[in-house]
Amino acid sequence: MNGAARRPVRGDRVLVIAPHPDDETIAAGGLIGSAVDAGAGVRLVVVTDGNRRGLGWLRDAELAEAVTALGLEPHSVVRQNHRDGSPGSTLFPELQEEARRFEPTIVVAPHPADRHSDHRLIGRAAEDLDLPASCALYQYLVHFPGFPRPRRLSPRRSLEAPDALGAEADWSALPVPLHLLQRKFRALCAHRSQLMNPWLTRLLLSFVRRNELFRVLAGDQRANRGYETPWYRGGRT
Ligand SMILES: [Zn+2]
Repeated sequence: MNGAARRPVRGDRVLVIAPHPDDETIAAGGLIGSAVDAGAGVRLVVVTDGNRRGLGWLRDAELAEAVTALGLEPHSVVRQNHRDGSPGSTLFPELQEEARRFEPTIVVAPHPADRHSDHRLIGRAAEDLDLPASCALYQYLVHFPGFPRPRRLSPRRSLEAPDALGAEADWSALPVPLHLLQRKFRALCAHRSQLMNPWLTRLLLSFVRRNELFRVLAGDQRANRGYETPWYRGGRT
């Protein structure tokens, strides 16, 4: 059984790692909003440029609008501008440096079982970060077969983990109160180039739910696989 997600409080420092511009909102818009409301520190690292379809310039503007909707200041956002679809070999040292400078109490990052290769790679990188023992890792899922179910706007429903990814006890639900859900929805709508794709629209809107879902690994539960794992020498997994 893993740890329970908790709402950030003043004094927390929340480092959110998003593979693409929009993952911050999809997976953790409510958590970011609650951290901002509590006066906790938030830093958002967006790893890739989101330019897979040549719309990176547009997604820059959309991200700026989305993070403002979530209550973040522009200086809280770090763009690493790795290539969408193939983050480079400097990914890991850059994330490690961000973590070293920011000294997070909570790191929010993709679950390594995510089916999108960028998410998977960055999720593994986050598990390998050298973090203080008191820092918890909150892992989120975006791309997985049959998740979320149903794949449509269902704001009264709870987000539930897919059966294939472990028991209910492995996951922790963090409720998203209505005012934060409104903020999250506004932020999602800011990513409007994503919403031009009907498949993505259904995916994005299906994360507007009563809760967000995290697998929480406390310091002593994080995988200790060492830094010399092949993935971060470059290329894709
Ligand atoms: Zn993504």
